[in-house]
Amino acid sequence: MVRSNQTFLENELSDVVRLFGSDVDVTHEMTYEDGIFYNAFEIDGEGASFEDACACEGELAFKRYAKRYAKLALYRLLAQKFGKTMPWGALTGIRPTKLAYAELAEGRRFEPLFEKMGVTEDNIALTAAVIEGQKGIYGVNNGGSDLFVGIPFCPTKCEYCSFITADIHYTEKYLDDYIDALAREAEDASAYLRDVKSVYVGGGTPLVLEPKRLERVLRAIDALHLSGEYTVEAGRPDVFTREKLDLLRDHGVTRICINSQTFSDETLRRIGRRHTAQDVYRAFEMAANYDFSVNLDLIAGLTGETVSDFASSVRQAIACAPDNVTVHTLCLKKGAKLKEETSFLSGEQVAEMVALSKRMLTEAGYSPYYLYRQKYMAGNFENVGWTKPGKACVYNVDVMEEITDNVAIGANAISKKLCGGGRIERYASPKDIPTYLHKIEEILAKKRQLFCKN
Ligand code: SF4
Repeated sequence: MVRSNQTFLENELSDVVRLFGSDVDVTHEMTYEDGIFYNAFEIDGEGASFEDACACEGELAFKRYAKRYAKLALYRLLAQKFGKTMPWGALTGIRPTKLAYAELAEGRRFEPLFEKMGVTEDNIALTAAVIEGQKGIYGVNNGGSDLFVGIPFCPTKCEYCSFITADIHYTEKYLDDYIDALAREAEDASAYLRDVKSVYVGGGTPLVLEPKRLERVLRAIDALHLSGEYTVEAGRPDVFTREKLDLLRDHGVTRICINSQTFSDETLRRIGRRHTAQDVYRAFEMAANYDFSVNLDLIAGLTGETVSDFASSVRQAIACAPDNVTVHTLCLKKGAKLKEETSFLSGEQVAEMVALSKRMLTEAGYSPYYLYRQKYMAGNFENVGWTKPGKACVYNVDVMEEITDNVAIGANAISKKLCGGGRIERYASPKDIPTYLHKIEEILAKKRQLFCKN
């Protein structure tokens, strides 16, 4: 538990404690006098204090630097107490690249700040490589909007999954009404969608819909007459059919995702997915008949997997030659069945997996183009999107760097509107499908209010 005389710092400091995965009682007092931040801590009865000189003008700058120095001081104390450091040091935000871009925008190199915050050399280099990988999208693409369409249904629920997604067998009765609601949202959005950069139909597993329903979703998007990148996160390979891929092609889809997570049949069984590595190969063979760019997802740190299991998955992923590979690190949030019953892999093992994926993908000609972190991530690592030259996904860059509005439709879809000065307003639709359907008029009105105001 963290108590601070500056209550606005309590959540930030709790995030630092969470990095170390331990329960400690922290009492914090911060004062700011004559350009110096004084941070005094008492942790489980032991005290320490820090002073950092920093001239800051205005409340926004004060809050930003107050957070930075308090977190850094607490991080140093905990690193000493537990005898370990973290790959991203005292940084707890999910978008390290945003912080790097903010430094660059103020005419400074980002590396000195990252070094000061204790970020490892490897992760400073990774951040620089991601910024390089975003050239041609970041800066060129800023402004305008992206469209997200949520299909929160899956063939079964995976054991590690914390998304709000429903087993399609139990939600059949809602599907038609859900698609009607999506179509109404899409039609309404045509009034405020501007300069659309990309469309992303995500899940869940969008291809779990049978062809007639899938086509209704695609038609609702066609009615917006958009062009450019169009991704369907097709999802688990056991739902791929030629008929559905034909539909995607006929409706202008340019990119699909095949979410295998691992090539180990034993792990797939353990995590509750009813498909095998063979199904992944079959999905790739099917996709080869089309012009889609293909993304493949892998997860490092799945329970029961060894470093060599993971290396084998990376090897097999590379052999499938996808245009993009996204390497996630296992992240268990509230709602994941595995959360209560699992013994996690050690941070060292996950670190080895992450390092070998970097090495193997780099050697295979991929480079990193977006990254993000999540709370509760095994070993406090990151998710990284890798791409072959010229194949970076615009939607992923836009969303991770928050450089465009995100018009998100569907249950549990979170819309974001950029309001200038780094401020972002959000609207989240209800998570549960009956509530989403019941409140559709209210949702339409709230989103109009969000996106139509100046
Ligand atoms: S396929 Fe993806 S969204 Fe669906 S249950 Fe599994 S992890 Fe969750």
